[in-house]
Amino acid sequence: MNNNIVAIVGRPNVGKSTLFNRLIQRREAIVDSVSGVTRDRNYGKSEWNGKEFSVIDTGGYVRGSDDVFEGEIRKQVELAIDEADVIIFVVDVEEGITPMDETVAKLLRKVTKPVLLAVNKVDNAMREKDAVEFYNLGLGEYFTFASISGSGTGDLLDALIEAFPEKPEVEVKEDLPRFAVVGRPNAGKSSFINALIGKDRYIVTDIAGTTRDAIDTKFDRFGFEFNLVDTAGIRRKAKVKEDLEFYSVMRSVRAIEHADICILVIDATRGFEGQDQSIFWLAEKNRKGVVILVNKWDLVEKDTMSTRDYEEKIKKELMPFTDVPILFVSALTKQRLLKALEATVQVFENRKQRISTSKFNEYMLKVIEAYPPPAMKGKYVKIKYCMQLPTQTPQFVFFANLPQYVKEPYKRYLENKIREKWDFAGVPIDIYIREK
Ligand code: GDP
Repeated sequence: MNNNIVAIVGRPNVGKSTLFNRLIQRREAIVDSVSGVTRDRNYGKSEWNGKEFSVIDTGGYVRGSDDVFEGEIRKQVELAIDEADVIIFVVDVEEGITPMDETVAKLLRKVTKPVLLAVNKVDNAMREKDAVEFYNLGLGEYFTFASISGSGTGDLLDALIEAFPEKPEVEVKEDLPRFAVVGRPNAGKSSFINALIGKDRYIVTDIAGTTRDAIDTKFDRFGFEFNLVDTAGIRRKAKVKEDLEFYSVMRSVRAIEHADICILVIDATRGFEGQDQSIFWLAEKNRKGVVILVNKWDLVEKDTMSTRDYEEKIKKELMPFTDVPILFVSALTKQRLLKALEATVQVFENRKQRISTSKFNEYMLKVIEAYPPPAMKGKYVKIKYCMQLPTQTPQFVFFANLPQYVKEPYKRYLENKIREKWDFAGVPIDIYIREK
């Protein structure tokens, strides 16, 4: 549950993205082959020694040229300090300490969060000696590695795991739904929350240095009991005036990871934009339930745009995961807010749903018989048995004689059939084909 977040910082071209890719490699490949959509490349999941964590390459969000402004670096480091539990600061032994490294070091020296100084491109004994100069950054012990070959990353990862803070488990009643309200700045998240809870308690001033972990607040509204997963990021209104994509997306990471269901609020007058898509994808990738609220619907001329047209447009952006409830609401007039809450609770129920193995087989084996997997290289693929796995999020396994011959389109077919029969609206599904 207490998923740690690691941020990689450093000036451009020190090897941040190579390190990032190395850390997230395995998982990434799987996810991208499924979606086939270009995704945000700066966020991923990783694990080491059985510990899971998320990685943010903050550098990916700062225009990368050699003459980046100090301001950009400052933003990058601030983002890391705000959002991460541990910061990896990458420097380059070939170049030695540059003025920009010093700028970053200066910012990081003030931080109470663990900072790992990682000296890249150290692939021989000579360079190992050269690395000593990085003591001058005043960040203490450093780690040497070579991101290209991967040498040294094991030690770095060991240290990383060690550095994760011991976090007290958030006290929540386990069966209570955890909803996170996410979206771009100005989409109307605070207005939505205020409308729900009936007072302006979310207008909180930002106190520098406060812990910014996600907070669960229990609500009991309209007969629904739920925990609202809030982050200081969502509250941090004063500072998030700038409509910067990476800020709103990254500020959503922790809220999303702590939630069961993400309520993605979008601004009807602006449509479903890149940032909305990135946040949606974060939720999907984390296997969270999703409900989309098209807010400010009161501002839309209904004769120029119908809900159906609007919904169609959004669904195109959601491909291939389009089975998502989309509601048209107004936080201002409180139109359909109760419906929104109902839909969210329904998605929560859908996500918990367990289909008995006998019912699942009874239905799915017929579906498979009606349209079997296409033969490959003259061989017939037979699926004789299937079941839902006892996992937190819906996962289904189909046992086949030749699992390697069951390709993506057929898995999609199975998923669609499952969705036709059972209500998994708003819930990402995993399909696995295994050898019997
Ligand atoms: P946040 O940054 O996502 O929390 O967005 P806010 O809740 O602060 O809303 C941004 C602006 O949009 C504010 O001026 C709100 O009054 C306005 N707003 C929010 N929801 C609605 C809505 O449903 N209709 C209209 N007309 N304005 C809204």
